[in-house]
Amino acid sequence: MERKKLVLASGNKHKIKEIAEMLPEFEVVGYKDLGFDFEIEENGKTFYDNALIKAKTVCEQLKLPCLADDSGICVDALGGAPGIYSARYAGDGVDEHNNELLLKNLEDKENRKAKFVCCMVYYNTDGEIVTATGETHGEILFAPQGENGFGYDPIFYSYDLKKCMGVASAEEKNSVSHRFRAIEGIKNKLKAR
Ligand code: IMP
Repeated sequence: MERKKLVLASGNKHKIKEIAEMLPEFEVVGYKDLGFDFEIEENGKTFYDNALIKAKTVCEQLKLPCLADDSGICVDALGGAPGIYSARYAGDGVDEHNNELLLKNLEDKENRKAKFVCCMVYYNTDGEIVTATGETHGEILFAPQGENGFGYDPIFYSYDLKKCMGVASAEEKNSVSHRFRAIEGIKNKLKAR
């Protein structure tokens, strides 16, 4: 049977791959793969605001139902930073630089607890909004481990997996991740409509 197309309002290849693996019943495509190369200004104050901006913008341009995620890492000892600013924490959008800065900012902190947060928004051409948030908890390590995943994965020790996300397989990460938990929430709400 032909799978229904679901547009993801993201240009992040890692996220598109992870979400596609979690939704095998859909043909998940990034909006840029449909030939639309506009950038979306994420000027919201919360994960929800930014996810909604992305989903709504892409849905209105493409006239197709869209799913967007906004995610990041929130560190207790830094008052929840970098949070919605995770992608550009060090200013240049380079994962290694973000990780170095986070390790540096935690040098004098005892509490290294952190969580990944993902807010997912589904938006369709009727203007209908379905949203869910997922979290996964852990601690920031003292040095990077492994090369799996992306972003802050190499410095995040997962309490669920009892290992660093940077050494976890894709299946392991996808079974406990903030993104997986948000997707499950969205799926349940879409089913219940
Ligand atoms: P967004 O594209 O604005 O949602 O930015 C998300 C940023 O948060 C990414 O660029 C990463 O730095 C970080 N992030 C989100 N999810 C993950 C994850 O699953 N692993 C590691 N870093 C993540």
